[in-house]
Amino acid sequence: MTDLDLLLAGGTVVSPGGRSRLDVGVRDGVVVHVGPGAPSARRTVDASGLFVLPGGVDTHVHLMDPGSPEREDFPTGTSAAAASGVTTIVEHSHGTPVRTVADLRGKVHHLRERSNVDYGLAAHAWPGQASDVAGLWAAGVTFFKVFTCTTHGIPGHDAARLREHLTATAQAGAVSLLHCEDESLTEAAEALLRATGRTDGGILPDWRSRDAELVAAAVAALLVRRTGARATLAHVSHPEVAGYVARERALGAALHAEGCPQYFLLREDEVLDEGALRKFTPPARARTDDDEVEMWRLLRGGTLTHMSSDHAPSTLEQKRAGDIWNVHFGLPGLDSTMSLLLDAVARGHLSYEDVTRVYSERPAQVYGLWPRKGRIAVGSDADLVLVDPAAQRTLRDEDVLSKAGWTPFAGRTVRGRVVQTYLRGTLVAEEGRPQDARTGRLVLGPGADAEHRRALGGD
Ligand SMILES: [Zn+2]
Repeated sequence: MTDLDLLLAGGTVVSPGGRSRLDVGVRDGVVVHVGPGAPSARRTVDASGLFVLPGGVDTHVHLMDPGSPEREDFPTGTSAAAASGVTTIVEHSHGTPVRTVADLRGKVHHLRERSNVDYGLAAHAWPGQASDVAGLWAAGVTFFKVFTCTTHGIPGHDAARLREHLTATAQAGAVSLLHCEDESLTEAAEALLRATGRTDGGILPDWRSRDAELVAAAVAALLVRRTGARATLAHVSHPEVAGYVARERALGAALHAEGCPQYFLLREDEVLDEGALRKFTPPARARTDDDEVEMWRLLRGGTLTHMSSDHAPSTLEQKRAGDIWNVHFGLPGLDSTMSLLLDAVARGHLSYEDVTRVYSERPAQVYGLWPRKGRIAVGSDADLVLVDPAAQRTLRDEDVLSKAGWTPFAGRTVRGRVVQTYLRGTLVAEEGRPQDARTGRLVLGPGADAEHRRALGGD
């Protein structure tokens, strides 16, 4: 056996099934040894006292590139990812949606040497364009993003259009990410609220109501089962929505449910004081600590299958540039999601094993990126994160690497710190400082055929 390129020695390697003190050896970007007694390596890192986690896999990310680079771009967004311990993202941007194979080719070309982590690209489903599904899936998109309500300029699918789309994905073997809010309910609420002349943050929970999300989620979950499709309900905002997922799953629906930290940790009434800085949709629903505890319980138990950030940044200036109706929806999240999950361990809501399950293994499995991504095992990419479980820090706007330059979690003290991040065996961030080496590669979806693998240059 020739020398290893890298050896992480003496760390506690964590997987969803448990943890043990093992050496991890890497050659040519791939894990080639997990166990005691590793052969010698050109570079050895003493990982004793640290946890070794598989790199985070964040499958709901908007980097606005191409589209709105004044909000974010790939170099800055993926620097934030690398520093926070995320080594794979799946990206889609509403401003420049991928609707055709030609759009995908153009985006792949634009993104060459712009990413600091590996990345898949998702397509946007368009009402009435279900015939494009098979071609896009064969070209290698990771999933189809579907809106049930017109949002961020993307037209919504009513039940008939959603059924068409899901039927096409079931035939192609493709997977979808469903944003569920009922258009008729959000529209009616908007008309009433606008008539009052109100522009305060308090409009948000009424405009983007619990009922609007529940109605759309219930219909979508039912149609996923009836069509035999595979899909994820995006950003499940409260336990009642998760209940519809669980019911349809029990009846046989291939339905995943995504959680995001903002639905655990931010409170519904913060929008009254913070206004546009809490404008995202669906909005925060948790009202009490008990609501938060219930969301963690649903995540531990698997009703919520995996976590993502739904990173959709705007700068403070952009968030303050208009009234609550006009500013962009969305929060920055790539900087903070891993930290908040590690802190949830310190707070007793999760185990480190849970973190590797919900932010590495499960999302990689849901989107066909596993076993190459999302685990530490011989043959997988050497996407590795060293974590100091005892280190504590306070999240601050000044430390945010996203162009957003702020975080809704500022002031929160978190325990558990990412010390180093390796992408395919190469150090891409250390102590919160990214290398910005732009070595991230395109990872095509599992439906990609040989022709598109050659043409797009993805792995
Ligand atoms: Zn989103």
